[in-house]
Amino acid sequence: ETTPAPNFIRNQVRDEIEGGQVTKIVTRFPPEPNGFLHIGHAKSICLNFGLAEQMGGECHLRFDDTNPAKEEQAYIDAIKEDVSWLGFSWAGPVRFASDYFDQLYAWAQHLIREGKAYVDDLSPDEIREYRGTLTAPGKPSPYRERSVEENLDFLERMRVGEFGESEKVLRAKIDMASPNINLRDPILYRIRHANHHQTGDKWKIYPSYDFTHGQSDAIEGITHSICTLEFEDHRPLYEWFLNNLPVPAKPRQIEFARLNLDYTLTSKRKLKLLVDEQIVDGWDDPRMPTVSGMRRRGYTAASIRKFCEMIGVTRADGGLVDIAMLTHAIRSDLEDNAPRAMCVLKPLKVVLTNVAEDYEEVYDVPGHPARDDMPMRKVPFGRELYIDQDDFMEDAPKKFFRLAPGKEVRLRNSYVIRCDEVIKNDAGEVIELRCSVDFDTLGKNPEGRKVKGVVHWVSATHGVPIEVRLYDNLFMVEQPDRDKDVDFLEHLNPESLVICQAIGEPSLAEAVPEDRFQFERMGYFCADRHLSKPGQLVFNRTVGLKDSWAK
Ligand code: ATP
Ligand code: MG
Ligand code: MG
Repeated sequence: ETTPAPNFIRNQVRDEIEGGQVTKIVTRFPPEPNGFLHIGHAKSICLNFGLAEQMGGECHLRFDDTNPAKEEQAYIDAIKEDVSWLGFSWAGPVRFASDYFDQLYAWAQHLIREGKAYVDDLSPDEIREYRGTLTAPGKPSPYRERSVEENLDFLERMRVGEFGESEKVLRAKIDMASPNINLRDPILYRIRHANHHQTGDKWKIYPSYDFTHGQSDAIEGITHSICTLEFEDHRPLYEWFLNNLPVPAKPRQIEFARLNLDYTLTSKRKLKLLVDEQIVDGWDDPRMPTVSGMRRRGYTAASIRKFCEMIGVTRADGGLVDIAMLTHAIRSDLEDNAPRAMCVLKPLKVVLTNVAEDYEEVYDVPGHPARDDMPMRKVPFGRELYIDQDDFMEDAPKKFFRLAPGKEVRLRNSYVIRCDEVIKNDAGEVIELRCSVDFDTLGKNPEGRKVKGVVHWVSATHGVPIEVRLYDNLFMVEQPDRDKDVDFLEHLNPESLVICQAIGEPSLAEAVPEDRFQFERMGYFCADRHLSKPGQLVFNRTVGLKDSWAK
């Protein structure tokens, strides 16, 4: 863990700075506001903002908003909140590709005047057909040789809404025989009679991703335009625009391998389906791999940043990251920083028959075993308490070191008790245990025998009711969307959420949303930021205690 994971982009940038080729780097994070950010985006955020931070540069937040039909203000707000929560701040104002629509339009006219763009009347299907395939060259559109005047006139009329949506497009005139299909006269503008969240009804045409991205980078003075490997084949086109337009700067595109995480979907489209079909409770459902879902689940921003550092940045595609690496990152953060508490998830009543009704003792217990900066907790003890149902077995095997009839166990921070009697209801279920206390065991071993087990417990009179939500992976297979012929919804885990009516120690009554604790022996928990209220506490289990990440 102390040796840093490889990050080839950081190394390259460092060399450029040391070699004097670059003085100040400018990066950008360019989300499309068509969904919430997920853990894959976190990788890109940490890379872009992290580089700027480490190399004394700056990073812009730019919404890539060229597709108004799928975009919403609510997504813009959520994305800004997530980036800030992760601990990053963008340089200057929030930017939008749509800020550059006027400039992009002028550049489209420039290409037409240079004989490098034309308005095409082919239908979308025809364009696809004419474009050819990897093995067959494309053929030119019959509209490819229109005059400059005609092209300028049509483009202007497209802009003001004279034509229907698939009647015309603007295309670059590059090379219909190029082995790189992206260079076979790519589309620059499409007609869309849509209202845009930033520009309203001003535009009836919208620029394509390819025509927008590099030029936006150039306008903003981006030095390193970092994107995922799917865009490698678009790089010649990215450069073609920069070389054929009077842009103010020449940014460079650098590609890296996207994050794929096992048991997890990292596609906004698929995550949106889970939301729309109400399979989860919104984009920030604690089971979602979204930044806001992970936050609600109890992940800290520091743990997500640490995970992104651990996975490194390479060009090697196709690898699946073990989700145990992500849970390791949060577990080690909470191990060091979350105060401890006792909480009984499945309460079983215990009556201590040799303790008087009004007897009370209060223990001062450290908030954290290794952190004396954390306040002590008051843990009250009395005649009636709860232990977890799983800590009692009627017919216990030899190796069961918890409670069983006639057996002894230690109550954490308190006495050793013995189970004398088991009370059942009419259905034969155990509903109460009658036990006795050995008062000679506080802080010391009992005389003449070994008691191995220690269980957590909560005073029945002082404990506070807590709704506890236990989560498991949303999907039961490593790659839910691997097989294109199988609907990924078939792999949903029916037990991804289990709700318990638990009882917590009294100190938990003070918990405010997003307070995190280790519930001893049960895992790490976080008070739900939306649902938890005083007197109505709701805790999400962030992660269990057992770490399965093999370094
Ligand atoms: P999705 O496939 O989920 O829709 P996207 O790439 O279309 O993702 P954008 O909003 O365009 O979504 O992404 C913003 C930035 O985040 C892009 O630079 C993109 O390359 C990066 N990104 C998206 N997914 C991942 C991932 N899994 N790993 C690393 N970076 C990613
Ligand atoms: Mg995208
Ligand atoms: Mg996408």
